[in-house]
Amino acid sequence: MKRALITAGGSGIGLAMGHAFEAAGYDVWVTDIDRDALAACPRTWTCCAADVASEDDMRRLFQEIAAAGGIDVVCANAGVAGPTASVEHVALEDWKTCVDITLGGAFLTAKYATPLMKAAGAGAIIVTSSTAGVFGYPNRAPYAAAKWGVIGLMKTLAMELGPFGIRANAICPGAVEGPRMEGVLEREADSKGMSRDQVYEGYAAGTSMRCFVEARDIADMAVFLASDGARRVSGQVISVDGHTENPDPKP
Ligand code: NAD
Repeated sequence: MKRALITAGGSGIGLAMGHAFEAAGYDVWVTDIDRDALAACPRTWTCCAADVASEDDMRRLFQEIAAAGGIDVVCANAGVAGPTASVEHVALEDWKTCVDITLGGAFLTAKYATPLMKAAGAGAIIVTSSTAGVFGYPNRAPYAAAKWGVIGLMKTLAMELGPFGIRANAICPGAVEGPRMEGVLEREADSKGMSRDQVYEGYAAGTSMRCFVEARDIADMAVFLASDGARRVSGQVISVDGHTENPDPKP
């Protein structure tokens, strides 16, 4: 049975990825910093608490994976929103925390997956970027910079690891329905003096399809990118966002 590891698998997109990979027949491993979230995951999954920004944690996690027989797919999905503020008001500490988790976590995930995949002569690395990693995101400079960085990391992995049979691709989700986006909508509604629904409509209006996306839309793409159907797809940035036309809609 093929094995897939998903970082930040305790909620949202990562949780949906766990369900999608399990449905596709994988042995699912998830890691998350939130032990309560892991405790609520299906018992059929192997759940390991780890902070993706900690090299000790990630080294230990991949030692466990190596002992279990290696890894076929890793989804470097962890990322945090970081501060919402114009760049001149962003504290260096907040910048570092956001970049360490969002970009550094993807780096450590790839770093420790690589020797296992090289030994197997195959593997698929899927990083979760964002529409912020394609356009930018006003008042979210650390997040946008980290998400662009994740794409640079993925492009380099694809070039470096292609000769070893390892593919790397990035998914850029648009605004995903769920608790994380609800928080964003409420904060923006407060700061703009608008209702939550007006802000929601503004986001949807920025896409050709006038929509948000669901976590399972991202998960389905990850399963496809890991599959044999995508065996010649590497180094690609794939948006799953209802086609963003205007990344900074003004509702
Ligand atoms: P979420 O907030 O639902 O879940 C994030 C998970 O990450 C939580 O379970 C949390 O405990 C875990 N986590 C936080 N810090 C961690 C750390 N240091 N180490 C390990 N785990 C940690 O998030 P989500 O919306 O599912 O987002 C998943 C990914 O998708 C992120 O990279 C995010 O930037 C990206 N993304 C999300 C959206 C969206 O609208 N939700 C849009 C574009 C991109």
